[in-house]
Amino acid sequence: MTVNPSGWRPERPAAGQQVAPTFTGNKALMLEEALIFEIGSTDTSGVEVAAPAPTASRLGNLMRTAPIGLPGLSEPETVRHYTRLSRQNYAIDLGLFPLGSCTMKHNPRLNEKMARLPGFADVHPLQPIDTVQGALEVIHQLAHWLVTLTGMASVAMSPKAGAHGELCGILAIKAALAARGEGHRKTILVPESAHGTNPATAAFAGYAVEDIPANADGRIDTAALLARLGPDVAGVMITNPNTCGLFERDLKTISDAVHAVGGFVYCDGANFNAIVGRVRPGDLGVDAMHINLHKTFSTPHGGGGPGSGPVVFSAALTPFAPLPVVERQGDRFVLIEEETAGEHHGQSFGRMVAFHGQMGMFTRALTYILSHGADGLRQVAEDAVLNANYILRSLDKTLDAPFGAAGPCMHEALFSDDNLAEGFSTIDVAKGLVDEGYHPMTMYFPLVVHGAMLIEPTETESKAALDQFIGALRSVAERAKAGDTSLKSAPHFAPRSRLDETLAARKPVLVWKDPALAVAAE
Ligand SMILES: *Cc1c(COP(=O)(O)O)cnc(C)c1O
Repeated sequence: MTVNPSGWRPERPAAGQQVAPTFTGNKALMLEEALIFEIGSTDTSGVEVAAPAPTASRLGNLMRTAPIGLPGLSEPETVRHYTRLSRQNYAIDLGLFPLGSCTMKHNPRLNEKMARLPGFADVHPLQPIDTVQGALEVIHQLAHWLVTLTGMASVAMSPKAGAHGELCGILAIKAALAARGEGHRKTILVPESAHGTNPATAAFAGYAVEDIPANADGRIDTAALLARLGPDVAGVMITNPNTCGLFERDLKTISDAVHAVGGFVYCDGANFNAIVGRVRPGDLGVDAMHINLHKTFSTPHGGGGPGSGPVVFSAALTPFAPLPVVERQGDRFVLIEEETAGEHHGQSFGRMVAFHGQMGMFTRALTYILSHGADGLRQVAEDAVLNANYILRSLDKTLDAPFGAAGPCMHEALFSDDNLAEGFSTIDVAKGLVDEGYHPMTMYFPLVVHGAMLIEPTETESKAALDQFIGALRSVAERAKAGDTSLKSAPHFAPRSRLDETLAARKPVLVWKDPALAVAAE
């Protein structure tokens, strides 16, 4: 299979050759789009509304004194504005999305079809239980799969993202310690190779976070961790596989030692896609672990919105898990919403969300699970790991692979900027990839590696797609190694070139100011 069948390459202007800018600012199908406030005008509207009859206002001094400034646009203008904006996004439906740790995989259309069935899509969380038995059964079945696949005792389905799940797990640990009268345990140990959300979660829940170093292999320095255990330690948070894309082989040893001193083990299971069907975290002594349905089970990531991060619990933590839970009682499904003394939810720490979680994501994840079956899920993990190792070994002669010598990786391949030319860094490689039509990989994370480039292909990419990506990255990396200065100003083919991303993040301009009003105010 040839990777670029037509052999076509975009032409860069020859040195010194100027290309006249277009009248519109557009570059062929790459359309410029102004802000909706700049296109619209407060004088126009998509609909004709008769002027309202004068009414007495009861707003007093809360009355708006200046014009609201909403842009008026016709329907076609509105549709075009948002469609043009949507085309400026990179998407998993457009191409390979190599973001390490994020697990950007294909979302099967069958999942979408099932999630849109009216019985799932149109239910309301306050509907009488008898009218949503099917929906509750879906939650119950998915819960059963998650508990079985992880070898844990129970699961809380309601958390809405991985980080939200972490908080859920840590709150359960906190409740368990308080019930034991050990609220004085205030420290959570977090290895350097953990995901950044782990220390953030522990701090948010009121714990002091202590770093545990990584060893030369990119794994936890187990001896350092064991040496730090003591009566002030509430628990550990360990990402496994870790953010170097490596399996933490000592997790069982660590869990046993943590339990022996009365602490709990939180495992960040966002990367469960690398081990699903192969490893049961329950066998490794884990007490709580979140699973990102949008990573392992192919549900869409959404725009920071409709995520789902169920948390599985050990028997020790199950009494403290949040409500609600779906239970089967004979041939009926019921929603346990209240703590019931003596029952196993008696010590629940409370709730994570108002209702039961994301029905649409539950339906998609269960569809994915049922369409793969247990053996298919194991193959998901195997193919994800195979694809990542294919990338690692195809590029480890071009780029520095810091842990490449330590053996195979799991679901993601890690490179550093060590052997680029003087003055070139990971950002230059990433920007070069944008010109090649790819979303860049995860950059400068994990922190244990200088100029990290973390690449996660997932199992849903074909060999042809991987070969094209490898070819593109190798070409860009060779340019960075050769000191090709054109890379320093890449991307050249994108609508905008280098932006000041730090300034944009630190001082975002979130409010549009009407220049006309600014003039009027002077
Ligand atoms: C993605 C990820 C998270 C956070 O999950 P969100 O759903 O984005 O909140 C936490 N840990 C790891 C290892 C991850 O990859």
